[in-house]
Amino acid sequence: MARFGQTPSLVEGALVVAGRTGLATLALFLAVVRRQRDGLGVGHDMSEPFLRAGGCACGAVRFTTTGRPRRGGLCHCLTCRKAHASAFNPFVVFAPASVEVVGKVTAWESSLGYLRYFCGLCGARVFAENRDESGDTEYELSLGSFDEPGWFTPEYESWTIRREPWLRPMDVPQNRRERRD
Ligand SMILES: [Zn+2]
Ligand SMILES: [Zn+2]
Repeated sequence: MARFGQTPSLVEGALVVAGRTGLATLALFLAVVRRQRDGLGVGHDMSEPFLRAGGCACGAVRFTTTGRPRRGGLCHCLTCRKAHASAFNPFVVFAPASVEVVGKVTAWESSLGYLRYFCGLCGARVFAENRDESGDTEYELSLGSFDEPGWFTPEYESWTIRREPWLRPMDVPQNRRERRD
C-alpha cells in the first residue's frame, strides 16, 4: 500500500520537471531557428523549415525535428506493441541531422543495430536509432511523442499479421511483415 502513497509526489515532481523543460524547449526552438536563419541548417528545405516539437510524457526529455521526414509508417509488430504498451506504433523517420534531443535518455537494443531510447524518469519511449550495415543511421519518432496530432500521416503499415482484429486497415500499402522496399 505504500506504493499508492508515493504516487501524488511522483506526479507533482513530473509536473515541476515539465514546467522547467518548457523554458529549455523555447531556448532550443530559438537555437534551431537561429541556426536555420544563419544558413547552417542541413537536410531540409530552407523555404519550409517545418519545425515540430515533442517529448516524453513527463517533459524531462524534449526533441525537435526540422524538415520533412524520409517516410512514415505504422507498425503492428510484437516488439513495438510491448515497447509502447500500445496496440500499434505510428512513426516518422528522419535523418540524424534533422533531429535534436535534449534530456537524459536510456537505450536498449531490441534487434541488431536498432536502439530504442526512453526517458529514465517516466519510462516513455522517445525515439529509436536504426543503424544499417552500410553505416547509415536514421532516427524514428513516434507520432504519439509529438506535441500535437495531425502533423504526419502513416504511408504504409507493417506487420499487419499482428494487427488487432478490431482495427481496420488504412488505405495505404499493407505489409504482412517488414516493409517492402
Ligand atoms: Zn519523461
Ligand atoms: Zn515494430
